[in-house]
Amino acid sequence: MSLLPLAQAQERVLTQIDALPTVRLRIGATRGLVTTHAVTAKEDIPPFANTGMDGFAVRSRDIEEASEQRPATLRVVETIAAGSVPSRTLDAGEAMRIMTGAPIPAGADAVIMVELTETSVSSAGDETVICRAPAPVGNHVRPAGDDLRAGTEVFGPGTVLGPAHIGMLASLGYEELDVVCRPRVGVFSTGDELVVGAAPLGPGQIRDSNRPQLLALLDEAGMVPIDLGRLPDDEQVIEAALQEAAERCDALLTSGGVSMGDFDFVKSLLQRLGHMNWMQIAIRPAKPFAFGTVLGTPIFGLPGNPVSSAVSFELLARPALLKMMGRHDTQRHRIVALADEPLVRRPDGKTHFVRVQVTESVDGAPRVRSAGGQGSHQLSGLAFANGLAIVPDGDGLDTGDRVRVIMLG
Ligand code: AMP
Ligand code: MG
Repeated sequence: MSLLPLAQAQERVLTQIDALPTVRLRIGATRGLVTTHAVTAKEDIPPFANTGMDGFAVRSRDIEEASEQRPATLRVVETIAAGSVPSRTLDAGEAMRIMTGAPIPAGADAVIMVELTETSVSSAGDETVICRAPAPVGNHVRPAGDDLRAGTEVFGPGTVLGPAHIGMLASLGYEELDVVCRPRVGVFSTGDELVVGAAPLGPGQIRDSNRPQLLALLDEAGMVPIDLGRLPDDEQVIEAALQEAAERCDALLTSGGVSMGDFDFVKSLLQRLGHMNWMQIAIRPAKPFAFGTVLGTPIFGLPGNPVSSAVSFELLARPALLKMMGRHDTQRHRIVALADEPLVRRPDGKTHFVRVQVTESVDGAPRVRSAGGQGSHQLSGLAFANGLAIVPDGDGLDTGDRVRVIMLG
């Protein structure tokens, strides 16, 4: 059976995936989600001219000659705290004490910072400020609309909302926003050999590590992970579980039961209930993979070996689920690095995704070394890796060779 190039497998999946519908959410719940409309500034930010420093609001002209030797003296006529408003216009020869963020009084056109001044109070209780430096017009003044002008587009549709976007939305008075839904993704594990949690292992049994790992990968990608447990080897129970899951979730992930030799109930049921495409992809690890729909819900059949299921998620499920979220940037960050040791392999018609540790180097390209055992069952090699080095078919790489790396996490 000839192997399918990875790009074709990815294409088969992506063409069948659409973005989810729009939902209106409180802005605090939108991190990682994608805007459906342009966001416009409803008001000026900042809304009024204010000071960026604690100091004294002055008329620049009044202190233009001020120096250490010949300081200028002004009468302090008022104190303006952030959140209060000046009671009157500033006149010639006057200063107002002003706190960062407080409005600039009419008549003032500059702020001199407190560190360049000294104050004194006369016996009659009149306060004066001595300015030891000039303050040019506009000094420390943040004009209204200096950040954003009312009516301007702040960000367009298709923007992935990060913490700073959410801060901006709040500063503009948005409480809610229309975004593409966050996908609810259910995860099953399959296989009679699997033991969940700390229960003692019987002969031939191993612990279920794929489900917790996949749930965490979903969480990391900003999706809603839904733990659907382990499917027992009972056809009726599996059928009911798959149907319920297909209704509850926007997408489903299973692990195990997609390899050539395997023919378990999950596989035969998906064959019957779903429209599945069983693939053998020209990659290592994660050669077997299935994708289709069950009752209209996309389902990703990931391979069972723990490293394979994670790599399969990275290369095939994650981009598709991000597309569901309305994202256009569905790829992880990639870099070009130099092999810091030989990355040995044999020709086998497949692209290898080698678990590597990428280290920064001060004097050039980052370096990569193997992160440990490269077997598809050796999860420790993946746990110690921060990248997947893409090693093309052939005899591998020598020290100093350039290698493309998909950065993880
Ligand atoms: P399969 O694809 O079902 O033939 O499984 C391939 C290998 O992955 C076998 O060694 C399984 O025991 C193992 N495996 C399957 N599912 C899991 C899981 N949820 N956690 C850990 N290992 C698994
Ligand atoms: Mg199995």
